[in-house]
Amino acid sequence: MDVKRLRHDSWADNSKFMAERVIPLVDHRTAALPVPQAPATLPSGVLRDARGRPLRDLRISVTDRCNFRCAYCMPKEVFDSRHAWLPQAALLNFEEITRLARLFVARGVGKLRLTGGEPLLRKGLEALIAQLAALRTPAGRPLDITLTTNGSLLARKARALKAAGLERVTVSLDALDDAVFRRMNDADFPVADVLAGIEAAQAAGLTPVKVNMVVKRGVNDDQIVAMARRFRGSGVTLRFIEYMDVGATNGWRMDEVLPSAEVLRRLQAEYALVALQASAPGETAERWGYAAADGRHDPALGEVGFISSVTQAFCGDCNRARLSMDGKLFLCLFAGQGYDLRALLRGGADDERIDAALVAIWQGRADRYSELRASHSSDAARGRRVEMSYIGG
Ligand code: SF4
Repeated sequence: MDVKRLRHDSWADNSKFMAERVIPLVDHRTAALPVPQAPATLPSGVLRDARGRPLRDLRISVTDRCNFRCAYCMPKEVFDSRHAWLPQAALLNFEEITRLARLFVARGVGKLRLTGGEPLLRKGLEALIAQLAALRTPAGRPLDITLTTNGSLLARKARALKAAGLERVTVSLDALDDAVFRRMNDADFPVADVLAGIEAAQAAGLTPVKVNMVVKRGVNDDQIVAMARRFRGSGVTLRFIEYMDVGATNGWRMDEVLPSAEVLRRLQAEYALVALQASAPGETAERWGYAAADGRHDPALGEVGFISSVTQAFCGDCNRARLSMDGKLFLCLFAGQGYDLRALLRGGADDERIDAALVAIWQGRADRYSELRASHSSDAARGRRVEMSYIGG
């Protein structure tokens, strides 16, 4: 197996030392799982997996390209100038994406999230959004269509995205300080431009805007309070994400994870916070609201969220499926392989055949990686996870 060896700072007992990362290079874009045999009679209505979890949320990655190189997702040492990006013909076209989305919606999906790579790099994305926005649930309701972006192109695209039918956006922003921001994403891009993108999204009505901050101990955790201060009372919901062992190229180490409980403690040293109810089943973020003097949540001050896949797994009600830009269906962010739906699409399969495949795939789903993380200690297991940049966060 091809590997890359990288030396990096690391921490033990609060002292820094040099360590080496060995990165196995496995191309997940080739290996696909065979679509299982469909059950003799297809169930009607909401589809549930082997753990009783309904299919509600489809994340659609529309490109493998990105203009940032976030070390926790697309490290520049691996995704360098020699990296072979997928050719255009390999990507699902907008009609194929919309057809698959329509079949997922018929099976209970009510929320679509467009991701990447960086989805705003996909040419003509507004046309895809308009096609998806025309879809309706079996009950005739419009879909909740959202998008996750690094914000670099948002300032100039926000109005067109809204006009096309996009509801909301989530922006990844890991620091306010330009030097720290650059340390996290290896891109020479000013924070001010991402903040301008967030303001443009708010002005265009892509609200509520959410901001995701991946927290890496010893790299950007000194930005936690500054980020909270920046977005408190702004209408933007800030979420802190624990640094995850996604993919096989970010050299993840547990000692670089700052548990959400510690992030919360740091915020509570500055602000009064009260725990809030989840706003929807399967919500990944634990919500905390800023309290007013009477100790109750003050909606005008807003809230923060914690996405704690490492220390507080939430697989129990995970209702998310992920579609890669070349048509593979993944059932977990930490899966090793996906099911090739593009082969069905381009092989002339009719809607019934594809629906039967979705039923068979989802009904067989038992993924719960985060619950089992501790037992996945073998290097082999580490080497087999799909890259987050391939299926979206
Ligand atoms: S680890 Fe997999 S099953 Fe668990 S919440 Fe994340 S995506 Fe869902």
